[in-house]
Amino acid sequence: MRGKLTIGNWKMNGGLTANSALLVALLAGWKAPGGRSMGVCVPLPYLGQARDVLAGSAIAWGAQDVSTHASGAYTGEVSAGMLAEFGCRFVLVGHSERRQLHGETDGVVAAKAAAGLNGGLTPIVCLGETLAERDAGQTQAVVGRQFDAVAAVLGMRMALVALAYEPVWAIGTGRTASPAEAQAVHAFLRQRLGAAGAEEVKVLYGGSVKAANAAELFAMPDVDGGLVGGASLDANEFLAIAAA
Ligand code: PEP
Repeated sequence: MRGKLTIGNWKMNGGLTANSALLVALLAGWKAPGGRSMGVCVPLPYLGQARDVLAGSAIAWGAQDVSTHASGAYTGEVSAGMLAEFGCRFVLVGHSERRQLHGETDGVVAAKAAAGLNGGLTPIVCLGETLAERDAGQTQAVVGRQFDAVAAVLGMRMALVALAYEPVWAIGTGRTASPAEAQAVHAFLRQRLGAAGAEEVKVLYGGSVKAANAAELFAMPDVDGGLVGGASLDANEFLAIAAA
């Protein structure tokens, strides 16, 4: 029984005052209904704030990126060990915004997943095709290639990550994959996991998830919850998604 996991990706949003209100509202509202868990991936400067508010609660926290290196002369980078010191449980790797805007290759994403695991974190490996790739019938080829790059580095340790299928055309666009479209890719990924975690790895869906569509998406047998961007900044909306 994998249970449902909902992760909020705040992206580069927030501030001390707004975060405090959001985190306190999540704490007050989250009853962790059976088999469901919740986490928030916050901007780095707010990790201490997230830890201070959420420590000892049923809400986990994490970061949105991690260095491929453990320490050294890498100005601006933050290691998995540093994130772990701030109590992070999760780290996003390979978000499409990092792939597209920061030139992260499949190889870099795989190295970040390995670095996260080595530092004691659970990497949430994001995968997804662009609209042009979907229209060209390349969804499985693209997502399979992104998956294989990580699996080649992690091997059987794939069982220790979470995956997030995030079609690029659905992120921040208001356009959501249909439950059937999501299920098809999730089933493909689970089959790809095979002996390296098909039963235990959570495969989250991300892309314009909101309270109004979460239940039908999460009802799919291979959809184990969501990675939520915009809607995670609204406490009531995010609580409703996580309880779906
Ligand atoms: C995301 O950033 O991972 C995401 C899914 O964003 P949104 O929910 O806003 O589409």
